[in-house]
Amino acid sequence: MTATFGFRVAARDGRARLGEMTTPHGLVQTPAFMPVGTQGAVKAMLPRDLIEVGAEVILANTYHLYLRPGDERIARHGGLHRFIGWDRPILTDSGGYQAFSLGERRTIDERGITFQSHLDGSTHLLTPEKATDIQANLGSDIAMVLDECLGYPATRDEAAASMERTLRWEARCRRRFVELQERNGQREADHGRPSGQRTTTDDYPLPAASCPSTMLGAALSAPKGCQLPAVCVTNPGQAQFGIVQGGTHIDIRVASAQATVELGFEAYAVGGLSVGEPPDLMYETVGETTPILPDDRPRYLMGTGTPVDLVEAVALGVDLFDCVMPTRNARNGQLFTSEGRLNIKNAQYSDDPRPADPRCGCYACRHFSRAYLRHLFVAGEITAATLNTLHNLTFYLDTMKRIREAIAFSSLEQLRHDYRRVFSRRSVNS
Ligand SMILES: [Zn+2]
Repeated sequence: MTATFGFRVAARDGRARLGEMTTPHGLVQTPAFMPVGTQGAVKAMLPRDLIEVGAEVILANTYHLYLRPGDERIARHGGLHRFIGWDRPILTDSGGYQAFSLGERRTIDERGITFQSHLDGSTHLLTPEKATDIQANLGSDIAMVLDECLGYPATRDEAAASMERTLRWEARCRRRFVELQERNGQREADHGRPSGQRTTTDDYPLPAASCPSTMLGAALSAPKGCQLPAVCVTNPGQAQFGIVQGGTHIDIRVASAQATVELGFEAYAVGGLSVGEPPDLMYETVGETTPILPDDRPRYLMGTGTPVDLVEAVALGVDLFDCVMPTRNARNGQLFTSEGRLNIKNAQYSDDPRPADPRCGCYACRHFSRAYLRHLFVAGEITAATLNTLHNLTFYLDTMKRIREAIAFSSLEQLRHDYRRVFSRRSVNS
């Protein structure tokens, strides 16, 4: 097991990069798509299924795992990888997005996000420090900072205020992350940073306006060398990504990107997109942001997207993606195919002997007809979710493979054209 995070660009096609991301749990070929394993499981999939479809990294949700079964319990079981039986890389989000979207009676202030659990109504305060601690307990390979998720549309003033709060939260997350690493005795290693990058808590003064000392709890004032209570760094090689915010206001995005890079993280994400804005506005925002992010670090576009989004964003210099679309749509009977989207529940497939996608090599397409897949779906069989998810994840991960090959052969432009043509239609049936 390697202990450091790293990234190497092997080839380029325009702004697109073919790369290799190193994590404590192995390599990820980029551009990469991360299937979403919300509660420590990708719905309807076993880890062996994920390996078969070619997943090299998955995403897990901090909010859900914190509430149930609890990050401290997962730490006692050796961290998330051991707990869920997945020994490849894992990225965890900060929990902020779900706390805001699922939590009840949630409020945001400078301390963090106060919310009531959607499970039992209990009240919780998710601070930047808490989000960092939870992810240390989980031991993901990549932890995300707590950011404020802004809806669309947002005024310029709203976007600026939200972006600035996110920056203050990011500084607190970084400080906590470095402190945990120091206490764990891991900071002597370079940890994959470029020389000159800041690596001690002294390099991360708390923003004066934002952080009364009580907010940070007793743990921060504990003597050096003291293990923080209830926090166990289960993955000493964990990396932390900063997040660029700012809505669709380009100048605010640019300021956010510059300031986030200045804070110094292992890599950077573009957040707060795919929240209802038109696709072209999303592409424009991404396209103006990626050039500001360091060339030698992976770039992660959070929560996106459709197959066309993947190809378009790669062409703008994005390396990592996650989205619930392939798994959620599979459970709703919508399949992604080389000919466009296909709704397996439609009556026209009742006697169709063809596989879901004749060009797909997945287990579902090798063994079963559209007629059988439709029957399983209509009958409400659990197997429908499994087979449809196997197929959709195969389509997404094959798309990433095609993207990587296209970059290697400088033919990404042709692939963009092909995907736009196929997915401009609403579905195969229409
Ligand atoms: Zn298939």
